Amino acid sequence: MTHHLVVLGAGYAGLAAAKGAARRLRRGDVRITLVNAVGHFVERVRLHQLAAGQQLKDLPLSTLLAGTGIELVVARVTAIDAAARTVRLDSAPYTLAYDTLVYALGSTAATAAVPGAAAHASSVATYEDAVRLRERTRDAQGSLVVAGAGLTGIEAATELAEAHPGLKVQLVTDGELGAGLSERGRRHLRTALDRHGVALREHTRVSEVAAHGLILADGGEIPADAVVWTAGFCVPGLAREAGFAVDARGLLSVGPTLRSLSHPEVFGAGDAVAAYGPDGAASRMSCQTGLPMGAYVAGSVAATLTGRTPKPLRLRYVWQNISLGRRDGLTQFTRADDSPVAAVLTGRASARFKEAITRGTVFALRR
Ligand SMILES: Cc1cc2nc3c(=O)[nH]c(=O)nc-3n(C[C@H](O)[C@H](O)[C@H](O)COP(=O)(O)OP(=O)(O)OC[C@H]3O[C@@H](n4cnc5c(N)ncnc54)[C@H](O)[C@@H]3O)c2cc1C
Repeated sequence: MTHHLVVLGAGYAGLAAAKGAARRLRRGDVRITLVNAVGHFVERVRLHQLAAGQQLKDLPLSTLLAGTGIELVVARVTAIDAAARTVRLDSAPYTLAYDTLVYALGSTAATAAVPGAAAHASSVATYEDAVRLRERTRDAQGSLVVAGAGLTGIEAATELAEAHPGLKVQLVTDGELGAGLSERGRRHLRTALDRHGVALREHTRVSEVAAHGLILADGGEIPADAVVWTAGFCVPGLAREAGFAVDARGLLSVGPTLRSLSHPEVFGAGDAVAAYGPDGAASRMSCQTGLPMGAYVAGSVAATLTGRTPKPLRLRYVWQNISLGRRDGLTQFTRADDSPVAAVLTGRASARFKEAITRGTVFALRR
């Protein structure tokens, strides 16, 4: 009987997994179905650009999958029944049975972290979030505060400030700006924020988001017409609800071949998965890990289905690429364990470099 491989999520990880598996496995032996909530590929790394009013390329999944033999189901996964090995969907065909499952449902903004964030803050974590933020800042006036100065917060603050010079933008963090970067990298970030007129507030803990701005743990307030929540990402609860082994944050727990620690017929890749390097450090939520994990999981599934033993995944980092508007950027080169080295690339050279990587990623996914 034909084996059914179902891949959940057509982001960087799921698309790479489905296409990689289609390349490796014979169509007569394995049928592959890819399930995604929307019918197009979302270039999440450009969502701050979408929020700032730029047009993104339309990338229909049907085009990206043409000729692969992969069946596309556009529907939202609402539950996974681990015992019956079925996935429940919110639209036709409503139920899908699987023999092997790849879990690659990505992440969303962690707006449950403080009261009021879900109700009053915007974000740039999903396509819909970015469109809502674009509508909110369309008149390009007033004040906007970005809460969370990780890479996404920095990119969102600078992009929005560049696109809307009339908007007063503040960036708030409970720690220090660029804590994981080199000294040169941190200096460049501060210069770029200054140039964009983005006011930085460090060591400032937010306890609540209200309709009129941020309420701080020390009792203070930061009034703002709009709040963008970029302080962390969270994952869908489906893996936990299915009874799969997950970590404290609900990320699917997998071994060195990205196979679920509790359910051997389940594999995972991307933001929704907690993979660990040989040094015990958890994978960073990024395309830099999602794409190789997706490609790797295709090989891992193919090896398992053909009776071979896959080699363990070796995650290695090379850089962190941060855009600072359209004409500036920071490329922080790293060691394989993601720790920064002194070398950085800045300015237009970094912006061009990141643009080339981003385009190259879509080019690779097309193939
Ligand atoms: C603004 C922004 C900028 C970023 N910049 C960078 C960067 O410069 N470099 C970098 O490496 N990383 C960057 N990232 C992080 C990167 O985008 C993510 O790590 C990456 O998208 C993870 O890939 P993924 O395939 O795991 O998940 P995703 O790309 O999120 O894909 C998950 C897919 O699953 C689908 N899905 C989710 N739930 C369901 C459901 N219930 N049913 C059906 N489908 C569902 C979604 O629609 C989506 O298509 C950025 C993120 C953001 C938000």
